[in-house]
Amino acid sequence: MARTASSIAKVPADAAEFPTDFVVTSGNSLFCKLCSTVVCNERRSSVLNHRNSTKHTRAKDAENEPRPTLLPAEKVITSFLSADIPLYKLNNPQVKSLFQFMGYNAPLESCCRSRVASMAEKNMADPELAQGEEHIYGHR
Ligand SMILES: [Zn+2]
Repeated sequence: MARTASSIAKVPADAAEFPTDFVVTSGNSLFCKLCSTVVCNERRSSVLNHRNSTKHTRAKDAENEPRPTLLPAEKVITSFLSADIPLYKLNNPQVKSLFQFMGYNAPLESCCRSRVASMAEKNMADPELAQGEEHIYGHR
C-alpha cells in the first residue's frame, strides 16, 4: 500500500525539528547526518528511538566534542626557540597536557626538527631561527 500523505508530510517536520541531526533525502526519507544512515520515516517513535540509540548518541557526542587541532609546527618552533625552549621539551608530559588543555595536539618533536632546517633557510635573516639548530641539537 502506498504511504498516506500525512506520513510523508511529517518527514520534513522531523527534519525541521532536529536540523542538526536529519536531512530529508530526495526520496523523502529521513537521513541521519550523524550516523550516515536512513532512519525509518514511517513512525515518529522510530525517529525518537533512533535519536536515543547508542549509535546516534555517540555520534552526537563526537560531533559536539571539540576536535584537537594540530598546531602548525612552524608556530611552535618559532615560539619555543624564541623562548630558549629546546624542541625535545615537546615530549614532556606536562607540556603535552598544556597543549591538550588548550585544545591542541602538540606537533611531534621529530616533525618540528625536520622543518627547522627549511625554516632557517627561508629566514636566514632571523637570528633566533639561525641559532635554532644549535639549541635543538646542543642541549640534550
Ligand atoms: Zn543518527
